[in-house]
Amino acid sequence: MPENVLSSHLYININQRKGMYMFTRQELEEMTSYSTEDSYIVSVYLTVDPATHLKDEYVAAFKNMAREELQKYDQKEQKIIAPEIERITEYMALNKTKFRKSLALFTSQDIDFWREFHLSVVLNDQIIINRRPYLKPLADLLDNYQRYGVVLVDRESARVFLVHLGEIEEYTEHFNPDIPGQHKKGGWAGLSQSRWDRHIEKHVNLHLKDVVNILNDVLLSREYIGRICIGGPVDAASRFKEMLPQHIQEKVVGTFKADMNTEINEIRKQTLEIMKEVEREKEEELVNEIISRAHKGDRAALGLDDVMSNIARGNIQKLALKSGLKKWGYKCQSCESIFTSKQDKCPYCQGDIEKIDHFIDLMVQQALNQGALIEVVFHTSEKFKEAGNIGALLRY
Ligand SMILES: [Zn+2]
Repeated sequence: MPENVLSSHLYININQRKGMYMFTRQELEEMTSYSTEDSYIVSVYLTVDPATHLKDEYVAAFKNMAREELQKYDQKEQKIIAPEIERITEYMALNKTKFRKSLALFTSQDIDFWREFHLSVVLNDQIIINRRPYLKPLADLLDNYQRYGVVLVDRESARVFLVHLGEIEEYTEHFNPDIPGQHKKGGWAGLSQSRWDRHIEKHVNLHLKDVVNILNDVLLSREYIGRICIGGPVDAASRFKEMLPQHIQEKVVGTFKADMNTEINEIRKQTLEIMKEVEREKEEELVNEIISRAHKGDRAALGLDDVMSNIARGNIQKLALKSGLKKWGYKCQSCESIFTSKQDKCPYCQGDIEKIDHFIDLMVQQALNQGALIEVVFHTSEKFKEAGNIGALLRY
């Protein structure tokens, strides 16, 4: 049966992709469980775009950045960190063919930890040396660039795509060889044209059901795709959409007209158009929900102080903040608690307090560590702006 053939084909595709150019929320969550007590995890984000960078320019950039960062540590600590830097430098020299636009690497030989991601978006160059992996840029990417499934379908074939980070990949193709021709061949089995038509329609229906199964198997069960676009000739696409079970139909966010042999880049363009609109609506919905629930006193926080006190209680379910939001803040040097206003001593452990400029990043990291979803919003309402461009839905 065609379905079995397809399944094995799909499986190969998924395995090839895993851990290279796509990453999931589960992978990220798994990474937050890594930490080290007396060693360090080095996290590196680096733009390595071969189109804009000369041959070894980014290696030099990394080395400079790493050297500068290393200076901040004493000799004993440098001894622990230097081999990690070395490991990354070696990796960069040997794996250039894998590179996309940017690179995210995480290493700690002490706890046998290594992760690499090749991304098709540009990220700020940075190196973070800490007890935990620094994941905020990746979390932002997942959040701002949700993965979409795209199905292109007609009466006898289908193509399935995955869109993420502005990139599109063809997942699989499906062709049903059993669909008979549209027009009855003279005298074939003595069927009348109307019976012949019904015969064809039955086959088309079977084909569309196959495609529904593929969609369910690969996009929903394996890849956890939350949003689907359907393209194709109008009649086939709408017929297909109607056949979808309720729980899949709810995930369809747009349809577009296309030929089956449409260029992959054109499909990408059509999907990105639909995605933009969906994201904008979703942002508005979230911000409005936070504001209205906050006014009713129904499990929502509005404004930085309100959000902070709920982070301290591990109470953030979904954090919404305006893109590029920056704030000064304070951090306890021993227990790493963070505060919006200056304290003489840490109220929790009496530790010394230092001023920090990446306060929002630390806050997001803490929210992420307690399992919160992070939504970076680009469009905000006046009311949200008045509240300091930050708010959250709470667990209780
Ligand atoms: Zn403290």
